[in-house]
Amino acid sequence: MSARDTPRTSGNLRVLAVIGGALTALATAGCGQSPQVALVQTSIVVPPAPGPQAPPADALTIGPAAVDTTGGWLADGTMLSPFDVANPILSQLDPTLLAAAQDAARAAEAQGIALWVTSGWRSKGFQQRLFDDAVVAYGSVEKAAEFVATPEVSKHVMGQAIDIGPAEADRWLIANGRQFGLCQIYANEIWHFELVADANGNCPPLRPNAAG
Ligand SMILES: [Zn+2]
Repeated sequence: MSARDTPRTSGNLRVLAVIGGALTALATAGCGQSPQVALVQTSIVVPPAPGPQAPPADALTIGPAAVDTTGGWLADGTMLSPFDVANPILSQLDPTLLAAAQDAARAAEAQGIALWVTSGWRSKGFQQRLFDDAVVAYGSVEKAAEFVATPEVSKHVMGQAIDIGPAEADRWLIANGRQFGLCQIYANEIWHFELVADANGNCPPLRPNAAG
């Protein structure tokens, strides 16, 4: 389990509100990026999650511009079926990425391997929280950036990345994913896949980490 998958355990509503405010300003400044995922103007309330690692219940806004701090959060050790599309972690993914992951899961299952989703779409606020946690864990912004992308560049925020587990499933997908368009991107993240194989099923060269 990496730092990116481990939300801060002691959430503080006041601090999170400040982060949220900063992110709102940031989002308003805009980066001119055209969203790849359809904006869905809905708002749901995250039910209080069980256990001490639950973040505070928070109004969850869906879509690439969402700034809440819990969108895409999954309890530690929890994995989703790739077909659990009621969860925004999957419903806010690029539909072609989701379909590819589901096709891969069917093929893997036929070979006795279960593919589970450990992360998919994340709100900007949640990604910021993961990044902030990584800065604390690794001691510097530069080091943290090797393990966790900032919200501005995270493919998870754009709905264009999916994390798969357990390790057996990662190994299967690294070996077989390209026939579904799915590629490992970072050498230090065997679980992270994006839909970037070319028409011939070739994946781009591995990057050493999220910073490289
Ligand atoms: Zn990832």
